[in-house]
Amino acid sequence: MVNNKRSIDDLNVAGKRVLLRCDFNVPMEDGKITDDVRITAALPTIKKLIADGAKLILCSHMGKPKGVDETKSLAPVAIRLSEHLGKKVIFAADNEVVGANARSAIETLTDGNVVLLENTRFRAEETKNDPAFSKELAELADIFVIDAFGTSHRAHCSTVGVTKFVSETAVGYLMQKEIQFLGNAVNNPVRPFVAILGGAKVSDKIAVINNLLEKVDTLIIGGGMAYTFLAAKGYEVGQSLLEADKIGYAKEMMQKAVDKGVNLLLPIDTVVATHFGRDAEFKTVDSDAIPSDWQGLDIGEKTRELFANAIKSAKTVIWNGPMGVFEFENFAGGTIAVAQALTSVDGTTIIGGGDSAAAVNILGFADKMTHISTGGGASLEYLEGKILPGVEAIANK
Ligand code: ADP
Ligand code: MG
Repeated sequence: MVNNKRSIDDLNVAGKRVLLRCDFNVPMEDGKITDDVRITAALPTIKKLIADGAKLILCSHMGKPKGVDETKSLAPVAIRLSEHLGKKVIFAADNEVVGANARSAIETLTDGNVVLLENTRFRAEETKNDPAFSKELAELADIFVIDAFGTSHRAHCSTVGVTKFVSETAVGYLMQKEIQFLGNAVNNPVRPFVAILGGAKVSDKIAVINNLLEKVDTLIIGGGMAYTFLAAKGYEVGQSLLEADKIGYAKEMMQKAVDKGVNLLLPIDTVVATHFGRDAEFKTVDSDAIPSDWQGLDIGEKTRELFANAIKSAKTVIWNGPMGVFEFENFAGGTIAVAQALTSVDGTTIIGGGDSAAAVNILGFADKMTHISTGGGASLEYLEGKILPGVEAIANK
């Protein structure tokens, strides 16, 4: 998809009330934010709108509260944001999200200043894309901007419904970047184009495999989902993750790769363990020699080399899903090897998916990648070839 959406660079926001939908769905423990990447990712857009003199109203959801839930309040986000911006972010404590408190905070808001609304999911209507709550949100503002890429695959009041009731809409810088990198990679890639898929389950990524086979030169499959493909080749996979009902699908995809001339790479060896655990005994075996009472938790050394060689000569690489149980040190080697191969690519490298992004961050390769998507589910839907409703709802240039 070519990015033809209006952006904040196309707006004149001075003195206007701008409602900015962010993705402040940050992980919390005991009332403390444990990782604020999602907050810092929104800063460029927030700073731009402040600098241009907008009356800025921020909103977001956090978690999946069933109605009002104090532990899911956005109050800590207002404090963290204030620290990052070096200016006070007024928190509109309001269980109705758009209630008397929020309205009065916005009435007294001056140009270049910021209010944060309470968790939009305190209102049950939010996830139903209900017109009445959408309208309440829209009436707070003159302009709506979305920068919540991680939620843009959901048609909710604060992502989609609201756009029907404001006269001007645009995407923020984060959205723009995500659409540009993911969109260009999938639809207009510099070749060779290699996609690497891993993670736990085939069933999570059926549509991704199917769509990417239409686009890529090489498709690499590792991680837990590889064993269903190995089973489809007639191999015994022991106690490894296996989705028996997806074996037929795996066969179909292998045939599709042949028909499309896509180079499909599967693990040729695998690290097997006696059980699923950090301290499990382990060894490497060929993919057709997995002992019946062992389970595959990582790709083997020969496979790492095979995959790395395919990756290194690519010009565009998309990676979704770890190659093994990287959370356990003994089974992180395959994921590390693939991350390392990506660092030597002379081209564009894109990481999509929540756990893949976490793996790249934890293993210390984050600054070596061209783009790490901030949206797990949203980036997957992009790779499936779906149109994201939160993007679709924004006006074209
Ligand atoms: P992403 O969030 O990047 O899309 P997934 O959620 O699909 O990735 O998968 C990530 C999970 O898959 C990780 O928790 C990892 O431990 C698990 N995983 C990877 N390989 C295996 C395997 N061989 N057996 C069991 N689990 C695996
Ligand atoms: Mg995941």
